[in-house]
Amino acid sequence: MSVDATLVNNLEAIVGTRWVKRRASELVAYDADGLPGYHATPRLAVFPGSREEVVHVVRALAEANVAFVPRGAGTGLSGGALAADSVLIGLNRLTRIHDIDHINRVVHVEPGVVNAKLSRAVAPFGLQYAPDPSSQTVCTIGGNVAENAGGPHCLKYGVTLNHVVALNIVLPNGETRTLGHPNGETDGYDLLGVFIGSEGCFGIATDVWVRLVPLPDAVRTILADFPSIDAAARAVSRIVATGIVPAALEMMDNPTIRAVEASIYAAGYPIDAAAVLLCEVDGLGAGLAEDVDTIAVCCSESGARDVRVASTEEERTRLWQGRKKAFGAMGRIAPSLVVQDAVVPRTRLPDILATIHDIGVRHRVKVCNVFHAGDGNLHPNIPYNADDPDESARVHHAMIEIMQACIDIGGTITGEHGVGLDKLPYMSKLFDDDSLAMMCAVRDAFDPDRRANPGKVVPVHACREWHSTRAART
Ligand SMILES: Cc1cc2nc3c(=O)[nH]c(=O)nc-3n(C[C@H](O)[C@H](O)[C@H](O)COP(=O)(O)OP(=O)(O)OC[C@H]3O[C@@H](n4cnc5c(N)ncnc54)[C@H](O)[C@@H]3O)c2cc1C
Repeated sequence: MSVDATLVNNLEAIVGTRWVKRRASELVAYDADGLPGYHATPRLAVFPGSREEVVHVVRALAEANVAFVPRGAGTGLSGGALAADSVLIGLNRLTRIHDIDHINRVVHVEPGVVNAKLSRAVAPFGLQYAPDPSSQTVCTIGGNVAENAGGPHCLKYGVTLNHVVALNIVLPNGETRTLGHPNGETDGYDLLGVFIGSEGCFGIATDVWVRLVPLPDAVRTILADFPSIDAAARAVSRIVATGIVPAALEMMDNPTIRAVEASIYAAGYPIDAAAVLLCEVDGLGAGLAEDVDTIAVCCSESGARDVRVASTEEERTRLWQGRKKAFGAMGRIAPSLVVQDAVVPRTRLPDILATIHDIGVRHRVKVCNVFHAGDGNLHPNIPYNADDPDESARVHHAMIEIMQACIDIGGTITGEHGVGLDKLPYMSKLFDDDSLAMMCAVRDAFDPDRRANPGKVVPVHACREWHSTRAART
């Protein structure tokens, strides 16, 4: 659908002609996020350069009654940043780090700041921004807020929600609000918590204040190699049962290990291992040796063939690079990759991995498992060729069965990648109509016209039914 020329003129007057993209050749860059299989070309893309410009852009869209979709780096893995029949608002020009308050350990940033750049900027003060999605060299803080992003080190440090203290937001009608408070706690309902993880459906975050934590005094990284997935999963349960809270506890299965080792990210993982555990402990140097010994015993008693501790910072970096670039390494196996995200009770890891294996065999697809084992957050990934309709159909059916198996085992459909478009069909399996209606009602408080990221997170039918029930009552 074309966009009204008056609206285009208005947007160009706000941000400048250079920052309104209308040509198909320009818009193609925004027709997908990190998840292949979903495509939608925006009506146009607009890139404001300041908070004020974001406000004016959103107001112009509200006056024209046009829907919009905020977008950060587009690394999302649930189709959340796709803008079908909407205007895409790119926040990538908002990259300023306004104020590093190292005394109070709070930093005020714009939403387009890349996650890893923030940690680099505060490192000279002995501080870090702890949530570390594996996409951290690219993804933005705004996208992290909208997805409530996690990462390997969130096992100990907590996810985005635990680190954001305040937000300035632009509501879909163009009004602005401050949620939370840069100085700490506020009274009343936790609107900040409601916004974090709202996947672009409640408005746009234009300023983000996050907590910083001290860089640890010392870090030890352990790689344990297992002859079976079961043994690795047993080790996870044993480690957690000791009361030690590792900074990270990650597992990779054999297909993943092989993909990494065949890539430029080769980390020295044993390619004949059924699974490896990458475990990190950090804190004061004095107590760490004991923790490392305890973890090594847990791994050995669970059947580990070998347990080694990275002896240099370089070796540690390599071990982590293999894990964090594992999705990229899978690009060697096939041109497309579907990355899934689900959570199961930690003790059910062996059961679900056996089920996933069977599903993969039945549908003749190769499943590579990478996961945040410490919190039961699975990423079953299937490399495939999206141009092959038969293979694409088999991948699709396998993924549906995997998600259903996670639900059946007492788990849920996303740990950190959000619902977006991809997980919409599962929402009704997890929530009853009344709960979905309540979500629609919360959304209405922010966006009664449903113009912000429409058609995502809550199935449209649930919102329609909720609307008609409400209309019938009034
Ligand atoms: C290789 C790889 C590894 C990954 N690893 C992890 C991981 O370990 N942990 C994890 O949690 N995720 C991971 N992800 C997923 C993804 O990186 C995260 O969801 C990230 O938070 C998305 O940030 P983004 O800037 O790319 O957002 P986008 O993809 O651009 O957008 C994501 C959602 O946020 C909304 N949004 C963006 N900016 C704003 C804003 N300023 N205000 C309101 N809404 C906004 C969009 O509308 C969309 O719904 C990974 C992705 C890849 C490709």
